[in-house]
Amino acid sequence: MAVTATTTLFGFDVIRKGALGDPPPNLPEDGAARAAFDWDAVRAELDGLPAGGLNLAHEAVDRHAAGPLADREALRWLGADDAQRSFTYRDLKRATARFANALEALGVERGTRVFCLLGRVPELYVAALGTLKRGAVFAPLFSAFGPEPIQQRMEIGEGRVLVTSPRLYRRKVAPVRDRLPGLEHVILVPGTEDPIPGDLLGDGVHDWNAVMDAASEDYTIAATDPESLALLHFTSGTTGLPKGAMHVHQAAVHHYATGLYALDFHDHDVFWCTADPGWVTGTSYGILAPLLHGITNVVDEAEFDAERWYRILQEQRVTVWYTAPTAVRMLMKVGADVAKGYDLSRLRFIGSVGEPLNPEAVVWGNETFGMPIHDNWWQTETGGIMIANTRAMDVKPGSMGRPLPGITAGIVAKRDDGGLDVIDDPDVPGELALRPGWPSMFRGYLHREERYRQAFRDGWYLTGDLAKRDADGYFWFVGRADDLIKSAGHLIGPFEVESALIEHPAVAEAGVIGVPDPVAGELVKAFVTLAPGYEASDALKLELIGHGRKKLGPAVAPKMIEIVDALPHTRSGKIMRRLLKARELGLPEGDTSTLENAPGAPKGAAS
Ligand code: ATP
Ligand code: MG
Repeated sequence: MAVTATTTLFGFDVIRKGALGDPPPNLPEDGAARAAFDWDAVRAELDGLPAGGLNLAHEAVDRHAAGPLADREALRWLGADDAQRSFTYRDLKRATARFANALEALGVERGTRVFCLLGRVPELYVAALGTLKRGAVFAPLFSAFGPEPIQQRMEIGEGRVLVTSPRLYRRKVAPVRDRLPGLEHVILVPGTEDPIPGDLLGDGVHDWNAVMDAASEDYTIAATDPESLALLHFTSGTTGLPKGAMHVHQAAVHHYATGLYALDFHDHDVFWCTADPGWVTGTSYGILAPLLHGITNVVDEAEFDAERWYRILQEQRVTVWYTAPTAVRMLMKVGADVAKGYDLSRLRFIGSVGEPLNPEAVVWGNETFGMPIHDNWWQTETGGIMIANTRAMDVKPGSMGRPLPGITAGIVAKRDDGGLDVIDDPDVPGELALRPGWPSMFRGYLHREERYRQAFRDGWYLTGDLAKRDADGYFWFVGRADDLIKSAGHLIGPFEVESALIEHPAVAEAGVIGVPDPVAGELVKAFVTLAPGYEASDALKLELIGHGRKKLGPAVAPKMIEIVDALPHTRSGKIMRRLLKARELGLPEGDTSTLENAPGAPKGAAS
């Protein structure tokens, strides 16, 4: 696939990093650390199990509990009702040991899939790490899923254990329980306002408190093959039916390396990842990476609320914050003035992942927080961050940054004969590909071997995303292969059109698709939501079309604008362009199990 470049580099000034102060960045830009990088050296930073092998939970919890960090706060939980609970590494070691023992007492074997359907409560974190200790496989489900997506994923994943709450069980699992014949044990976590009714217990349904109380707080982790299965994560379903990506204990090495280089973790950091563990970000970075580094991990139970978020950053003295473009756009919508009312001086680094981060948002962050928001790129399959704007790097707004040490990324084009051409020329879009071999790479799609095999060609893993690399080695997201628009001989990535539109003050969010046209092939159509204080009108639509033409040129600018109240998002916060398109063309909507605000569904988290 040879394609012509569309407009490039958005036209924002590079944000230059001057002196960065204390602490110095873990990955300085002198090139020495990159040149010296070696996976074995990172592996050597971890312990390895006394019994042999490598176990994620040992590295994240037990090794700290056995040393000088035992009394350091590992988990700081903020309840939706403003309650606060704190767990040291020692506390976490004991609680996770109890859970591992409880699983063992229930006869749960190594390799068994333990599903978890919980809001962001402390028990979720204990269950995740206790499952890993047991050598079982942790499979998180987002708590706002309805019964069908839960049943579907548990069936694919052959879940034999489910940890959930009485309320979620009654509302979401009980209706499909007869279609889950493999489910042997349900462990219910009661809440103060969600007690376990006695009639629910028995017949494989257990009370969390009872099984935990009966279990010992000592647990010796058995030898763990680093290649054994640890995590089962379902993709976001943005482009179709979610796929179950399988990850192994070895991923710890990558989570550790990226905590160091991409998120710049330092001793004593207070880290807040806003993603829910139902998605890979919320597990790799919302649980594992900070604990692997022995720092303090903040967890907020509540959903997005701008004032609350700023309050958390201030009161918890967050130093490193990892969030998502959809949340940043919501903060932008509320306005920078709100942020100005808070003392955010402790913040040292802000990262973002999940979707392209519009250049406007990077610049807004720089003005609002005194530092750019650092976009980074990865996907469920990669298990951890691959391409990143690191703390010391100059930031080019709109770029995802450069491949991290240890990662080789390329831009490739598929040939008709089944081979690949590697595109070395700068600024030419193609499929983003990675050289396999990093530790957190997925080891398969559960029950979809053929789909997994198709993702590899000529020694590359094909990501399904389109990107280009500039002459300085920075990568720029163009779009998902499925979302690319072909209009009058141009290939247009929706991201650059959306980014241009949200530069207009009236536009809060934009989703762009191609609609079939007999002459041009496709025409660019944009769906936009408005910022507060703006009213939909034909005049505004014309103004936005004019704005698009000025920014992008007539070939790329949207020809049609539709002003809508909301765009369809996945529950993990991504714009679902395939749904905009299906609705526009009157086609079937396909899998909507991850659609946020699906009819009748409760609202999901902005993660
Ligand atoms: P599915 O594979 O089921 O369609 P999904 O790809 O959205 O869903 P995830 O693995 O959660 O599932 O998301 C990864 C994708 O998100 C990437 O392949 C990419 O398309 C997008 N993405 C993530 N981070 C970025 C980023 N920084 N810039 C641009 N796109 C990003
Ligand atoms: Mg994907």
